[in-house]
Amino acid sequence: MSRVKDFVEKLHDVELSFLYKYKYPGFFDQSQAIVRAEIENRGLTQDVMNAHIEKYEYSENNTGCPRCNSILHTAQQVEYTNTSRYQAIDALEGRDSYTTVEECSVCGYKLFDGNSDSSTLTFFQALKIVVKRMFKKK
Ligand SMILES: [Zn+2]
Repeated sequence: MSRVKDFVEKLHDVELSFLYKYKYPGFFDQSQAIVRAEIENRGLTQDVMNAHIEKYEYSENNTGCPRCNSILHTAQQVEYTNTSRYQAIDALEGRDSYTTVEECSVCGYKLFDGNSDSSTLTFFQALKIVVKRMFKKK
């Protein structure tokens, strides 16, 4: 069983709709075929998927991803391109070359981008990152 198949089978209809809209176009042929088969299996039509997207996209009631409401996300360590914002965290950790990019697994929305200048790093966000990194090391 492929990882893509495993993943899409576990998605809710709403999540599958968002995946189809945002990530599907960037998938390789084989993965696209898997997504299309899953959509067909569930009998999801384009109209139904559009309705799901319309209901949840950037809804203020979303408690997960701001764009699709999914709680599935991945965090990746990436190399710094913006060195100024993380000095506090790095001083705590004694390291200086990596930061975190967190994105929604379903729609690819950037939940947190340590290299982005546009997001403001609050104390709470910084704390969250430090705690996450600590857990990862063990
Ligand atoms: Zn999302």
